[in-house]
Amino acid sequence: MKKSSLEHDTIVSKHVKGFFAALVLVSLAAGLRIWPLQMLESELTWLTFYPAVIAVALYAGLYAGLQATVFACLTVTLLWPLFATHPFIENRLDFLEMAIFVITCSLISYLVESAHRAQKALKQAESVSKASIERDQFTRAIIDYMPNMIGYWDRDLRCCIANSAYSVWFGKNPEDIIGLTFRELTGEQLFTLNEPHILNVLDGEPQCFERTLNKVNGSVGHIIGHYIPDFDDDGTVKGFAIHASEVTVLKETEVKLKLITQELLHHKENLEELVETRTTDIKAALDAAEKASQAKSKFLSSMSHELRTPLNAVVGFSELIEMNAKDKFTKESSQKIISASKHLLELINETLDFSKIKSGSLELNIDSYSLKNILLDCVSMTKVSAAKMSIQMDNKADSLPDVEINVDKTRFKQVILNLLSNAIKYNREHGSMVIDYSIEDKKMLCLSIADTGKGIAPDHQHEIFTSFNRAGAECSNISGTGLGLAISKKLIEKMNGRIGFKTTVGEGSCFWIEVPLS
Ligand code: ADP
Repeated sequence: MKKSSLEHDTIVSKHVKGFFAALVLVSLAAGLRIWPLQMLESELTWLTFYPAVIAVALYAGLYAGLQATVFACLTVTLLWPLFATHPFIENRLDFLEMAIFVITCSLISYLVESAHRAQKALKQAESVSKASIERDQFTRAIIDYMPNMIGYWDRDLRCCIANSAYSVWFGKNPEDIIGLTFRELTGEQLFTLNEPHILNVLDGEPQCFERTLNKVNGSVGHIIGHYIPDFDDDGTVKGFAIHASEVTVLKETEVKLKLITQELLHHKENLEELVETRTTDIKAALDAAEKASQAKSKFLSSMSHELRTPLNAVVGFSELIEMNAKDKFTKESSQKIISASKHLLELINETLDFSKIKSGSLELNIDSYSLKNILLDCVSMTKVSAAKMSIQMDNKADSLPDVEINVDKTRFKQVILNLLSNAIKYNREHGSMVIDYSIEDKKMLCLSIADTGKGIAPDHQHEIFTSFNRAGAECSNISGTGLGLAISKKLIEKMNGRIGFKTTVGEGSCFWIEVPLS
């Protein structure tokens, strides 16, 4: 739309220019004829008008030339008499001259226009052919830059196009290849290999295949070749294009990958064998460990039985000796024997418990029991030792509602007794001990035993539940094994509960346990 209006504008301006050129040049010609060329009037009547019309036609073409012719005729017939003494058209002969002028000028204008057009067409044809040559050169250059072989072969298997990549494989320049037959370029052997693909592509079937080729430099390369049929308008194949790309690096990588995969498979098999052997070894080691642990437990339980019997006898007889002792030395010595034997008995019992828990052979008998009964039992058992240290016991257990808890009664008692005995052992003389409880979410019972001892130093707090760890008490004269809390933690956790403590150095500690309500 825009283009056609532009063309229209150009045509209009060309016509306007032509019109003015005709007007000016015809006026000039008329002026020259009136003066200074007046004296030549009889010899060359249209002397100046011919060149004027020719000039206009040359400048602006056929229409402007015709206009100039018409202007010249009008000037000599209408305007001439106003300026010249002799009229321009006097007789019939003058009309004939004017007719000759009109015909000659029209012919000249037409010829000039035709010459113009022919010249323009020639220029256009020249520029089209130049552009097409440039385009061909450009396409040719691009094909040549390609590292892949690109070519075109006609039905008679004669090369029409070949790019520079051909020289790498066949050692011939493209211009030497063009015109050769396929067989002449490849040689008999390679031609025989390619022949089935050639026949197929000439039948109209595109081809894609892999091939190993020798390069001119002696190296061997790998290519993927494509033969693409070129069909005529009537569907017959008039030739085919070849595109062959080198994939040597890819092929080498593929071979390497295959080798690596094989190696990996081999390693995998070895690894599986190794894992199997190790698993068997570990199973055997586990079996052996289990057997050893069972043997250890058996040994410990029989040993502890064997030890406890004579130790109980030692304690019993020592107590008899103490009761009947007449002198101070015998009394004191028997007391020492009793205390040492009891300590040994405690150590044996706890070691046995701990080893049972660790080996997983400790069986719990969890059931519903009254907390109050258990607590009252434990408190009455520790009352004597509390009294010995003048420790005041604030026992809220008496006011406990009748709460039932899910525990193993004996083991739960063992834990409470351990906490109570610690609260007495590690308390100060004339100190106090508070037993308290709370119920959490109607699901758990939380029991706490607080004392007014010296507390636990921060650097010992993390090891309080570690077996055989006395958290600094080993340097004191308070007897203990360092096993009680470790056993308590394991037992409470086996009863689905938790154990913990809070402590302030110099003020005391508060140990708590949480067990499920029934
Ligand atoms: P032990 O037989 O030594 O009492 P436990 O396992 O019962 O073994 O306790 C471990 C250590 O924790 C104790 O040796 C002691 O140092 C510390 N401990 C336990 N209870 C208290 C407490 N109520 N106050 C201060 N220290 C305590």
